[in-house]
Amino acid sequence: MAMTQLTTQDLTRIVAANGLPSLLGRLVDYLEADFRRWPDFDKCARTAAHSEVGVIELMPISDARDFSFKYVNGHPGNTRLGLSTVVAFGVLADMETGMPSLISELTLTTALRTAATSVMAAKVLARKDSRTMALIGNGAQSEFQALAFHHLMGIDEVRVFDVDPAATDKLVRNLAAAAPGLRVVRSASVAKAVRGADIVTTVTADKANADILTADMIEPGMHINGVGGDCPGKTELATDVVAMASVFVEFEPQSRIEGEVQQMAADFPVTELWRVLTMQAAGRRNSAEVTLFDSVGFALEDYSALRLVRDCALEMGLGHDAGLIPSLRDPKDLFGELAAAPKIQRAA
Ligand code: NAD
Repeated sequence: MAMTQLTTQDLTRIVAANGLPSLLGRLVDYLEADFRRWPDFDKCARTAAHSEVGVIELMPISDARDFSFKYVNGHPGNTRLGLSTVVAFGVLADMETGMPSLISELTLTTALRTAATSVMAAKVLARKDSRTMALIGNGAQSEFQALAFHHLMGIDEVRVFDVDPAATDKLVRNLAAAAPGLRVVRSASVAKAVRGADIVTTVTADKANADILTADMIEPGMHINGVGGDCPGKTELATDVVAMASVFVEFEPQSRIEGEVQQMAADFPVTELWRVLTMQAAGRRNSAEVTLFDSVGFALEDYSALRLVRDCALEMGLGHDAGLIPSLRDPKDLFGELAAAPKIQRAA
């Protein structure tokens, strides 16, 4: 059984063939289907290797049929070195035999799945009449967030702000080409971007307890989509912003360590999103409530994304044998693989 490899180029083909809006829509469907069968999954908080400048994480999850994991990093200083803040790849394997079936790029896919997860949450947490979104942090993830909310949530204006004006230049340029119908307004400050917005997305990268949003900026009825705070000591919202909101998380044990709620007492109330999606808990209760999706990124989202890219690759005939698993005529004769290798002359 071969292990298929999907490259970044394969992923760009998948996006081109589906069209970004429709691929994001399919991804939301896959995510919702998997979140609705939450109890089927064997779940744990991801393992994280921290350094002074970043983190490397492994994110496993399984159900009775499939196992998946993602390797992902988060290094906010990387862009100064010409490297991405976040890169990732992931694997799907068969629980019955342990045979890996897919190894795929997950850098682009993580940006897609994070935006699709934000939409899945906003569908049950944001006001239905939301039209305007503030987008704070205009780096690698930002276009995906803007386009997902434009195409799937009816957002027709984004107010954008970044401490790095070049990042905002890039976002404005990319959005003008990708979504001419989306109004993009450059804001002079976070406060100006946020004022009057229906949804506020924070997607900044800094290894700090930052106060990007403070309580004076928050208006009744806002939905906050907090994406960038996802590690111990790396948060974006002032504590009193979290305190004033109804807070929704992915997997509570992981979010208590990594999310905005790491700032709060251990008994601060949070609701896991799957409970809202299965009608066991309320989402938004009224038009004045402030809701917060405290996104950190959970393994189930990568499993859903891997399922989708596997299905798309099958539909399109994409992928190559990764050459990582020996294909043996006699599975007990692993040594025979060595004997079959061409002889190489050793230097004297
Ligand atoms: P990036 O480095 O490409 O972009 C981050 C941007 O934030 C930069 O342009 C930077 O100038 C800006 N920024 C930093 N501090 C700011 C501030 N105080 N005000 C305004 N802008 C500020 O990173 P990225 O790949 O876009 O990722 C953004 C964040 O999202 C990271 O922290 C990453 O770890 C996180 N992330 C979360 C998830 C999730 O599932 N929740 C998934 C992917 C990435």
